[in-house]
Amino acid sequence: MKITLVGTGHVGLVTGTCLAEIGHMVTCYDIDSEKIKLLNQGCLPFYEPGLKELVKKNTESGRLSFTYNDRDALSNSELIYITVGTPMGQDGKIDLSYLFSAADRIAEHLSNEVIIVMKSTVPIGTNRIIKERIQATSSKQALIEIVSNPEFLREGSAIHDTFFADRIVIGSDCKYAAELVEEINQPFGIPIFKTDLQSAELIKYSSNAFLATKISFINEIAQICEKVGANIEDVAYGMGLDSRIGSQFLRAGIGYGGSCFPKDVNALIDTAVKHNVDLTIIKAAKVVNQDQQNILIKKAEQRFGSLLNKKAAILGLSFKPNTDDVRDSPALRMVNMLLDEGVKLVAYDPVSINNARKHLGDSIYYSSTIEDALLNAEMAFIVTDWDEIKRFPLSKFKDLMFSPIIFDGRNCYSLQEVSQYPIEYYSIGR
Ligand code: NAD
Repeated sequence: MKITLVGTGHVGLVTGTCLAEIGHMVTCYDIDSEKIKLLNQGCLPFYEPGLKELVKKNTESGRLSFTYNDRDALSNSELIYITVGTPMGQDGKIDLSYLFSAADRIAEHLSNEVIIVMKSTVPIGTNRIIKERIQATSSKQALIEIVSNPEFLREGSAIHDTFFADRIVIGSDCKYAAELVEEINQPFGIPIFKTDLQSAELIKYSSNAFLATKISFINEIAQICEKVGANIEDVAYGMGLDSRIGSQFLRAGIGYGGSCFPKDVNALIDTAVKHNVDLTIIKAAKVVNQDQQNILIKKAEQRFGSLLNKKAAILGLSFKPNTDDVRDSPALRMVNMLLDEGVKLVAYDPVSINNARKHLGDSIYYSSTIEDALLNAEMAFIVTDWDEIKRFPLSKFKDLMFSPIIFDGRNCYSLQEVSQYPIEYYSIGR
């Protein structure tokens, strides 16, 4: 099938490439001409394991192409996926301007019949609004159907998640459109669940809110662990053995971040407020997460008293390993809080320094090795559990740092291992 994707970011590029891989003819369109030029030169605009090879394979086969020309991309397109960003605005509400602008471009180039497939995460009711907007804006009397097809991939394992997802959700009020999207996805061999538009929209938000709540839940239990002398890893493991609970998303740490969970939790709370529903549990999950992101700094303050003019290393800047995405990263938040306390910071991350620099500028030093970041530091904060950070030998913390004091926000080392070194070690819930 011929498919056009509007928005060639983390979701658009991965989805487009995977749709090409299963045999469809895919055009990825983006307003960011620099991004498209990079892609046409065989380079990726962001880091995602395995994606470069798959893009190369599918562009060479002729099934995948990139353009920033809206006419080329959209005129005569009968199947259009929307994968533009829906970020959180300054006011905490979802900014739908990219989505509206995409809808207006689609309306401008509308053919006689079009099916819009919404992959962007959009507040409940937005799919209807977009369909009406395209109908109202277009000069043509075209037949427009809209399908909600929310995306569940995780950055860092996005290709795996696309091919081995637990489910594909398809929501539409049009049977024919839903069946067509089902047919497109059939080669993935993943269970497909069809429902109405609003339910599909809400499945996405409820899933993310549930996972965020699970993280906040275990982080709250971690606080009790520290008080009563229990070990959060044993507690989480013991809980996770119960199949009703499951072991995933039960890792205590410094809380969730990234471009999805914080904004999706906010958007769901916002929707509930509009409908006079009080989401007590989800609001609490958000509050716990905000507090959790301060936890390492509180531990450092307790240890040192004032942090003024202390030298600290930050290990990890991306919001999680295997991505260079720093949107809403707990690391950036921590960096800003430490800067407010007058700490001198040197940060290391294997791939995210360029992105972090766009937010932090020259307020901190950046280092290209873990060793350089640790050299003469008085404390080290482990923020993102990249493999190379998790595996960094403890002996080197001792050798390189002025004082080997580690605040580990990801519980990277076992307590037994740490006890073999003259290192002061503070972790979460242990
Ligand atoms: P992104 O910022 O990486 O990419 C969005 C792209 O859309 C950008 O390249 C931007 O230039 C482009 N764009 C903006 N306006 C456009 C327009 N009018 N026409 C064409 N292109 C336009 O965003 P993302 O992370 O891919 O997220 C996209 C959507 O998917 C969001 O709604 C997000 O919540 C959702 N989502 C993201 C993830 C994730 O892990 N990133 C997972 C699931 C769902």
